[in-house]
Amino acid sequence: MDAHLNDLLNGRGQEDRNESGSSTRAVHGGARRNKAFNSLTEPVVQTATYTFRDTQDLIDFMERKTWGDGDDREEYGRYGNPTVTAVERKLAALDGGDDAVLYSSGMNAVTSVLLTILPAGAHIIMTDDCYRRTRQFCLTYLKRFGIETSVVPMGDYEAMEAAIIPKKTRIIISESPTNPYLRIADIERVAALGKKHKVLTLIDSTFATPINQRPLDWGIDLVMHSATKYLSGHNDILVGVVTGRGDRIKALRDSRGVLGGVVDPHAAYLLDRGIKTLGVRMGQQNANALAVAQFLETHPAIERVWYPGLASHPDHAVAAEQMSGFGGVVTFEVKGDLKITSDFIDRLRIPYIAPSLGGVESLIEQPALMSYYEKTTEERLALGMKDNLVRFAVGIEDTDDLLEDLEQALSGVPVYQTHVRQLNDLWEKRFRT
Ligand SMILES: *Cc1c(COP(=O)(O)O)cnc(C)c1O
Repeated sequence: MDAHLNDLLNGRGQEDRNESGSSTRAVHGGARRNKAFNSLTEPVVQTATYTFRDTQDLIDFMERKTWGDGDDREEYGRYGNPTVTAVERKLAALDGGDDAVLYSSGMNAVTSVLLTILPAGAHIIMTDDCYRRTRQFCLTYLKRFGIETSVVPMGDYEAMEAAIIPKKTRIIISESPTNPYLRIADIERVAALGKKHKVLTLIDSTFATPINQRPLDWGIDLVMHSATKYLSGHNDILVGVVTGRGDRIKALRDSRGVLGGVVDPHAAYLLDRGIKTLGVRMGQQNANALAVAQFLETHPAIERVWYPGLASHPDHAVAAEQMSGFGGVVTFEVKGDLKITSDFIDRLRIPYIAPSLGGVESLIEQPALMSYYEKTTEERLALGMKDNLVRFAVGIEDTDDLLEDLEQALSGVPVYQTHVRQLNDLWEKRFRT
């Protein structure tokens, strides 16, 4: 393989980063050369520490490290691991960044970024549809350190700009698509605002993955993913990742050595293995979710559907312009109350009832009974979580099987049965006259 292509696959070669496709990078990106024992797959280097041949070997390493050039070997597990590094390079290549840093979970990635970059008294801006725990971290934990957070409505870029406090605002955090309404950030505008006011921008791109959108290409500074979801793809590990420019990621890697949110080498291996099929999985999940959304939108037992691939979604235009796929999650309201909705969910045979998303298995949840169980109906409504709301994280099953399953489960919704009865009456009347 020529050196140029190799650089590209390894996440370097910024100027030509659009030359190889995402699936090629998902399979080949990362350390391709010099693998131990000529192993095709990434060896799992299951060690906590690394040895030195003799004292001179140690002194040579310390000299190189002191002068900023100790990248040729590892020293201790909290500072680096070859299996982890290989996945980091693959993810950098996928997101079009210089480098990436892996963390023990998506939340650890968020908290580590913020603890690394924010000084005392700093100010954060985030959008209101942001991941619950990210909001909680900023509004309660960081507040204790004198860090203030302004929450602005998703899609209101005037409010976002107006919230910027000169010299105090350090970061704008948004998610895209968001959970559960799948709102899409105009990331070009977010990036432009950040550049204009010299504020760092971070997009939580968990729901999009590098297959559907690469925010770094649009000028965003840092991209974060909960790799627990689509990137690993099999609901079997928790991992987080941040990608971006080399110097920023280096600072994050240094702070990870202090904060300690490292990922286990075996989990890193499973992530590497999962990412290899990211392209085909996302292709199927994008297609399945679009089919499900279109089916539900015309179904008489469904009140409303949110899916950015539908023209009815408030952010369809920006999604169509900035994304190459609309993702695998569909959110909808059943015509009925809490019980009618959970009865519908219980009739489904394919999806499991579980939190999370992004794995090969379809998962379904009623937010009122899952993430917001402890809240009253009024509190839930204030947060925009109706009792009849359902989040369907579509897997890679056959499209027809998913549609058939939805059809049979929806046929038990009382509104639908009334609808069918009315249709039958109508038909009979016509037939008789
Ligand atoms: C799941 C999730 C997180 C948190 O990631 P963990 O790996 O569960 O810690 C953050 N953001 C989004 C959008 C998520 O879906």
